Amino acid sequence: MSLPAALVAASRTDPAVARDHLFTAGTLDRYRTVLAAGIDRVAHRFATADQPFTGVTPADLAPRIEAVDLDRPLADTGAALDELHDVYLRDAVYFHHPRYLAHLNCPVVIPALLGEAVLSAVNSSLDTWDQSAGGTLIERRLVDWTARRIGLGPAADGVFTSGGTQSNLQALLLAREEARTRAGLRPGPAALARLRVLTSTAGHFSVQKAARLLGLDPDAVRAVDTDGQRRMRPDALAREIARCREDGLLVMAVVATAGTTDFGSIDPLPQTADICAAAGVWLHVDAAYGCGLLVSPTRRHLLDGIERADSVTVDYHKSFFQPVSSSALLVRDRRTLRHATWHADYLNPARAVEQRIPNQVDKSLQTTRRFDALKLWLTLRIMGPDAVGALFDEVVDRAAQAWQLLAADPRFEVVTRPALSTLVFRWRPAGLAADLVDDANLYAREALAASGAALVAGTRVDGAHHLKVTLLNPETTGDDIAGVLDLIAEHAGWYARTRTADELSCPVG
Ligand SMILES: *Cc1c(COP(=O)(O)O)cnc(C)c1O
Repeated sequence: MSLPAALVAASRTDPAVARDHLFTAGTLDRYRTVLAAGIDRVAHRFATADQPFTGVTPADLAPRIEAVDLDRPLADTGAALDELHDVYLRDAVYFHHPRYLAHLNCPVVIPALLGEAVLSAVNSSLDTWDQSAGGTLIERRLVDWTARRIGLGPAADGVFTSGGTQSNLQALLLAREEARTRAGLRPGPAALARLRVLTSTAGHFSVQKAARLLGLDPDAVRAVDTDGQRRMRPDALAREIARCREDGLLVMAVVATAGTTDFGSIDPLPQTADICAAAGVWLHVDAAYGCGLLVSPTRRHLLDGIERADSVTVDYHKSFFQPVSSSALLVRDRRTLRHATWHADYLNPARAVEQRIPNQVDKSLQTTRRFDALKLWLTLRIMGPDAVGALFDEVVDRAAQAWQLLAADPRFEVVTRPALSTLVFRWRPAGLAADLVDDANLYAREALAASGAALVAGTRVDGAHHLKVTLLNPETTGDDIAGVLDLIAEHAGWYARTRTADELSCPVG
């Protein structure tokens, strides 16, 4: 069957026209104009965003995106940007807005956006020196800089990753192989079945996921109890290690969290390090959230003890105000990174190591990899680390103020006093039934999101629905927070009144 002649003609494109879109020495004017037009649209949207969200639903948005004919390009960049406004920019979730209070997403610093534009234009790939040159050395300087800030010692090393999830996976891969080889266990199901990982009940779910990917037993991750401030209890950790030993199991790693995702709580790092040292167990510190303290002018001490870790996860895209992705895994002993090494003849042959050619792929789970480090580099070179730390300090201060607001407000109950910048709380006026309180909090969060006026997160604490705010925007004021609390109380109160009235008018009989 042949295509109609008109369609064949339309699908044929002049190769010279296609080449106009390649970024080369011959298209620099187009590069400048097109990127400037894109920047203008984003700037315009920022200028007009008076809410963090429009409240759009998947049902509203899906037909608009479905209607786009991907086989038929638009007339020009301007038309594509108009369409982009319709399908994305108008209804995106804006993390720079002071009433975006939901997840661990930060507003980003402009030096990092400059880095983002440069790194994607040059498009270095950080797997091998012969695809990146200076990019490799810049990443290595930043790994060394971070390891020094942590205090990991002279043999430290690491690599940038796509995020905390990947960093935790790689850390546990290294820990697994170190534990297995030290115990003289051959690779295979028998060894995998014996390995255990201990983390607190407030640890991140990526630990569970990593354990599954690493072939461990379905029950390999044991949750250690926390104290009232949701920090891992050292006595419970020691007991769990002893229990594993009695059962003939091998604890391959303890994952301490420096900044739990829900509560921002920091596990007691010095005591945890003592216990791990005494038991000869790999200590991984998941500082995906708390890493901003590394540059804090006033709160670095909250991470005391992190320097004793065998490996550390840091997410610059959480508390260093970097755009996604920007993250790293650091290790105390660079030799442990060999567990992630595979030599391919075409890419990183073993002889490259002898020739001292720096190939980062030898340390990474990824092959082709973005030069994300450039964003942090320009941030440090333009702002400096103290300025980044000052931004993080501001949001931690703001969370302390917000805690006082909540603790003094009879409409709300707050779970922990924050060490970092999250608050977990719920609307709970006196005298309401537990299930009504639960549903009202769930409703309030959804109603708030549907209005788009503010975004907060939700989580469960001890079986009950709670709300969570994560402060990462220094522009969020105490008034913003007070205003959002009023909105939550209004939505929750409306729900509780309506449901109580319904039950009175139609009693269950
Ligand atoms: C966010 C987070 C992670 C996961 O990091 P991603 O960058 O989202 O993959 C891991 N651990 C903690 C404590 C986190 O807060």
